[in-house]
Amino acid sequence: RKSAIKERHKQTASEVIPDNRQLYIGGGWEPSSSGESFETTDPTTGETLASVSAGTAKDIDRAVEAAWDAYDEVYSDMSTAKRQAMLTEIADVIEEHSEAFARLESLDNGKPITEARIDIDLVTDHFRYFAGIARAEEGRTINTDDSRHVQTIREPYGVVGQIIPWNFPLLMAAWKLAPALSAGNTVVIKPAEETPLSILKLMEVTEDVIPDGVVNVVTGFGPEAGEPLSKHPDIRKLAFTGSTTVGSEVMKSAAEHITDVTLELGGKSPLVIFPDADLEQAVETTITSIFFNTGECCCAGSRLFVHEDIKDEFLDSLTDAAEDLTIDDPLLESTDLGPKVTAEQVERTMSYIQDAEAEGAAFVTGGTQPDDEALSDGCFVAPTLIDGIDHDSDPVQEEIFGPVQEVFSWSDYDEMIELANDVDYGLAAGVLTEDLTKAHQCARDIEAGNIWVNTYNDFPAGQPFGGYKQSGVGREIGQEAVEHYTQTKSIDISLD
Ligand code: NAD
Repeated sequence: RKSAIKERHKQTASEVIPDNRQLYIGGGWEPSSSGESFETTDPTTGETLASVSAGTAKDIDRAVEAAWDAYDEVYSDMSTAKRQAMLTEIADVIEEHSEAFARLESLDNGKPITEARIDIDLVTDHFRYFAGIARAEEGRTINTDDSRHVQTIREPYGVVGQIIPWNFPLLMAAWKLAPALSAGNTVVIKPAEETPLSILKLMEVTEDVIPDGVVNVVTGFGPEAGEPLSKHPDIRKLAFTGSTTVGSEVMKSAAEHITDVTLELGGKSPLVIFPDADLEQAVETTITSIFFNTGECCCAGSRLFVHEDIKDEFLDSLTDAAEDLTIDDPLLESTDLGPKVTAEQVERTMSYIQDAEAEGAAFVTGGTQPDDEALSDGCFVAPTLIDGIDHDSDPVQEEIFGPVQEVFSWSDYDEMIELANDVDYGLAAGVLTEDLTKAHQCARDIEAGNIWVNTYNDFPAGQPFGGYKQSGVGREIGQEAVEHYTQTKSIDISLD
């Protein structure tokens, strides 16, 4: 099996990895100013997938200049109808290559191919959504007195900087690119060093669709390429998705030039199950909430609050379902859980698991790496459910970002809400109940930017997404995203 996996990955890599892996600046492919490159690794086989240019501050300067040239010379004059047509065409081109994009994402990130396809479908849908929104931008007129006519218009910032994480490489790029372009900005984007390939492929297949310089891609590392982008004096708006620790650094960098910033950060989201919930559906939703994308989801339902009346029965079924998940080569249709993105991420997850063990927690299932020789070169962690852990402990308070869920039971609603809110994060939550009143109440009581009722991990294009507390600033997706990529100009015309 191991050699079959390697052969499958080698063959797929030869079919889907983009030919161009340099920096994409001003519509052309260029090496890094340092001449350096870095390797991106296949987390399933541990083998190198490709070598990619490592951008520097100088490259960021060139990219920002190219983006301003494109803004001044082409994009700021492009009508909303043309922007709409361009975004629609981007969606069409991605759709045309959707299977190749899904396989590439699965290779570089390790996500199961069935889930990678969901990502790519969402990517095309987001470009289509923001194509439509391009035509819907409106200003207001404001009543003051008869001596003046006051109106507002929304204007793009000009050049925006965008920094992307590795867990949904193309989808997180789409969440940023589509609204920024729809609103009339040009972009410099830095993908995560772990997963740079899908955005390079996007540039390759849209070369004839996006005018030169409107989107510029500088691959590379955080300190060398990300930080210069977030500090750049000519970037007017910055959007970052990643960890709260780095987000805080990015916010400080942005402060240097008072750059407007949107931050999509980490989470430690609660999933609350009421005793009246449909058990079978609740098990399915719980599995999705934590094991989708191998738990590498900012909004993963990593803290489960199940009512004590149903806890034993529920946990039995949940354990069976978790143990039934197939951990295997992510390119196989039957795989539910692929590898984590890197060996470092495995270490991080395993170290939280060891901390939980040291805290005296009980493992309902998992807590190990799978004992499967065919997967021994990959970054795999078994689906893990932890019971009997103190809510104040680090593995509960901090984001593990892996297939690990901590289980708590509750009987008193107010105490449960207090605990559910007792973390620094506030990104998402799930509520499972048949009772609409309880669902509404609970949705209001939880401090989080996204509440899913009887569902989890849905990301329809119109639904604003973002965090309360240390999970972020601002919102992505939906009309609100466009507001974050435009600024208001008030015009006061004297009628005297
Ligand atoms: P990360 O913070 O390590 O890196 C994110 C990006 O920031 C990468 O491109 C990295 O190169 C860059 N970076 C690193 N240091 C930098 C610096 N000093 N200045 C500027 N850029 C820098 O995050 P990650 O490990 O790639 O992603 C996982 C994290 O992302 C998790 O915490 C997850 O919750 C979060 N996330 C949040 C959302 C959301 O919408 N809220 C979505 C996806 C992921």
